[in-house]
Amino acid sequence: MDNVDFGVLRLPAQVLVGPGSVRSVAGLAASVGTRVFVCTDGVMVATPEFAALRGDLERAGLTVEVYSEGVAELPLTTVDDCLERARRAAPDLVLGYGGGSSLDLAKVTALLLRHPGPLSGYYGENRVPGPVVPLIAVPTTAGTGSEVTPVAVVTDPGRELKVGVSSPYLIPTYAVCDPLLTHGCPPRVTAHSGIDAFAHAVESFTSARRGPEWGGTLGVFVGSNRLTAPLSLQAAGLIARHLPRAVRDPGDAQARESMTYGSVCAGMAFGVAGTHLAHAVQYPVGAATKTPHGLGVGLLLPYALQLCRDARLPELAALARATGAADSGDEAKDAQTMIDSVDALRDTLGIPATLADLGVERHELDRLAEQAMTVTRLVNNTPVPVDAATMRRFVEAAWSGDRMSLVAS
Ligand SMILES: [Zn+2]
Repeated sequence: MDNVDFGVLRLPAQVLVGPGSVRSVAGLAASVGTRVFVCTDGVMVATPEFAALRGDLERAGLTVEVYSEGVAELPLTTVDDCLERARRAAPDLVLGYGGGSSLDLAKVTALLLRHPGPLSGYYGENRVPGPVVPLIAVPTTAGTGSEVTPVAVVTDPGRELKVGVSSPYLIPTYAVCDPLLTHGCPPRVTAHSGIDAFAHAVESFTSARRGPEWGGTLGVFVGSNRLTAPLSLQAAGLIARHLPRAVRDPGDAQARESMTYGSVCAGMAFGVAGTHLAHAVQYPVGAATKTPHGLGVGLLLPYALQLCRDARLPELAALARATGAADSGDEAKDAQTMIDSVDALRDTLGIPATLADLGVERHELDRLAEQAMTVTRLVNNTPVPVDAATMRRFVEAAWSGDRMSLVAS
């Protein structure tokens, strides 16, 4: 990263991480106002941990209104339903409690409480005109990083692919990440969200280096830089070492704690640096196969790194040292070992290795490649130029499993 001479970091006003930190939520909420609107789902709302949080909030003198019909993939109908309830509650702050979808629901609700709809008016980058209702984000999985990022992703029936609202105004005011809340997360969800967090770390670290245009409105994603790079590296090391343990033994407190730290660090890094190719291609793959975000990203990550290897040898070698994959001093060799270790991690987690394994048919590849090219903000964040032909070659390799076909000859 020696030749990157800029730094950009955008963060919540406070990020609290550690076992028991959820006990600080009520105090933070009371410092903002007296009426809190909670966005969560039907599983989380029934947990003793949520009951305890609710008790804390009420004892702190807050009026608590709970919307617990949040669902994965966040359809617009849920957003509308939630907003209607939120308007009646007229909250001083919105609290997201749960996985990425509940946090994203809290973000778009806080947005639409303050600014007129429809939500589609804010799709894309930097289209939110000003601050939203204050947000507190309390994740119960270690993965999306949504508690610290400027992004919310929704499913709009009018669009083929999921769409995102990206704006620094969507960064929660407070992020409270208590690893004890993740102990109930089942192994499959732990694996998918964990490899997603790992991809955030690795893709943010290897992303394009554009350098911001000082003076104008900065893009939401500005590429890897000197402030995000240490966070990416730390996250990659923590996750590579602890994710298999957290999947094997859900009660492994040290593994859960490290995963929480890793996922928050990865979120802080990618929320500014951005992700790239694995994330871009997951959009159409997820839409075509109805598979979870983390599963698709995990499947695609080794291919993305293979395509970018020669453009990111020092970064991949640094990742190899951070994760313990290799430290031979031979940069090219360690970079390849790093990519191979991502492949092995994916296999350990039981994530399919090819698009064919996901049920994608060969004749669908042209369309997948075309759709992936429309995710321009992530395609352009890839450290090598990706044109239509390169993208087609990429999905072919990910379909057949021939990763080494992506090495430039
Ligand atoms: Zn992701």
